[in-house]
Amino acid sequence: MRILKFGGTSVGSAERMRSVSALIQSGEPKIVVLSAMSGTTNALVQIAETLYQNKNKEANALIDALHDKYKQVVEELYTTADKKKEANSLLTTHFDHLRAFTQDLFTIHEERAVLAQGELLSTALFQFFLEENGIPSVLLPALNFMKIDENEEPDAPYIAKQLKVELAKYPEATLFITQGYICRNTFGEIDNLKRGGSDYSASLIGAAADADEIQIWTDIDGMHNNDPRIVKNTYPIAQLSFDEAAELAYFGAKILHPSSVTPAKQKNIPVRLLNTMEPEAKGTTISAERVGGSIKAVAAKDGITAIKIKSGRMLLAYGFLRSVFEVFERYKTPIDMITTSEVAVSLTIDNDRFLDEIVAELEKFGQVEVDKEQTIICVVGDFIAKDSGPGLRIFESLKEIPLRMISFGGSRSNISLLIDTGNKVEALTKLNDGIFERNKANA
Ligand code: ADP
Ligand code: ASP
Ligand code: MG
Repeated sequence: MRILKFGGTSVGSAERMRSVSALIQSGEPKIVVLSAMSGTTNALVQIAETLYQNKNKEANALIDALHDKYKQVVEELYTTADKKKEANSLLTTHFDHLRAFTQDLFTIHEERAVLAQGELLSTALFQFFLEENGIPSVLLPALNFMKIDENEEPDAPYIAKQLKVELAKYPEATLFITQGYICRNTFGEIDNLKRGGSDYSASLIGAAADADEIQIWTDIDGMHNNDPRIVKNTYPIAQLSFDEAAELAYFGAKILHPSSVTPAKQKNIPVRLLNTMEPEAKGTTISAERVGGSIKAVAAKDGITAIKIKSGRMLLAYGFLRSVFEVFERYKTPIDMITTSEVAVSLTIDNDRFLDEIVAELEKFGQVEVDKEQTIICVVGDFIAKDSGPGLRIFESLKEIPLRMISFGGSRSNISLLIDTGNKVEALTKLNDGIFERNKANA
């Protein structure tokens, strides 16, 4: 079994959907995971925002505009009048469902149902297209097997069990289509795996189905050495270890959802990042194999808050760090980076929902300082402790940029630096020119 996930741009138009159908037609069994068509989830987020504000007229106008966009897709995607009719009546069902939300109280539950419409639409339209072209396939409802638990973590045993139940209903089928991103929560309500979550769906499905390979098809030829949206002269990396890819995804490389490498790593399933626009390109292979060679890539994660706790009592006091960590645990707030000295500990969080409560509790231990709008720059590679070269090159490149925190040694594949977000573009650019052999050779 193979899992093939196609992102928003890859299914973003009738033409793109046609290209996807050409890429999935070999005979081997596969589950195809689709995102919403590009722009749709953003449009749904905007619709939800206006519904929260009771701006029903505005919401209806946005819903109508999105409906019109989909009517156009139907016009371009199908050739027969029957399929166009069938697809248009599907659109009416989904868009009337959206319009009905203007009549009711709008809460987070309704919001999640709104956000789910994008993937429900893209998969249904794609399934109709396959039907029209005589390609046998089965539409698997992700809401029947994809589930998160009370901690909003995927319920892997449930997913594996239910996916098998769903697949067993079609013993002859070799091509399955399903929705990325959407799931049910512990209360059985519609929920999602957060923005960009279709990658995570693909990896979870791959792990649940013991797949041979997970392919993430997107609009770029693999994981680049730096953020191509910010820096010029980036290039694709042929091979990454699971740990290296997980660090890059977690620390901001948008091509992969932050958690999406973990399920594949746990089951040792290779993940390939491929380009729908350029299917022959090699892309990136992520596997257990570690290919040496110092620095591989840089990523940046914004929206970080740094917290420093200064305490005279910390000196030689065992149990101090535990008390600090317990505060974060109570508020279910993960810590990303941590550095310590004898008199202070600094750490970072990316979720500041309970910041005030956390700070109030930490003030019991000492003086607390908070810095917002920070960015973690994560440099990933195979750093061997005895080789000082990569570290030197990083600091040399960043010598004009104030560093707030530095973390090295937590794993062999990551050096993290905390800077003001205002310095991010300069830092990524300087690193791109200074630390990659290939760029230096071209300079
Ligand atoms: P999809 O809709 O297929 O999921 P995304 O937009 O989520 O696609 O992810 C692909 C985009 O990620 C690329 O177009 C690129 O702009 C961005 N990106 C950010 N960092 C990287 C990186 N290090 N390597 C490749 N792409 C990256
Ligand atoms: N459609 C969702 C989003 O835009 C999920 C995804 O594309 O991965 O965030
Ligand atoms: Mg994505």
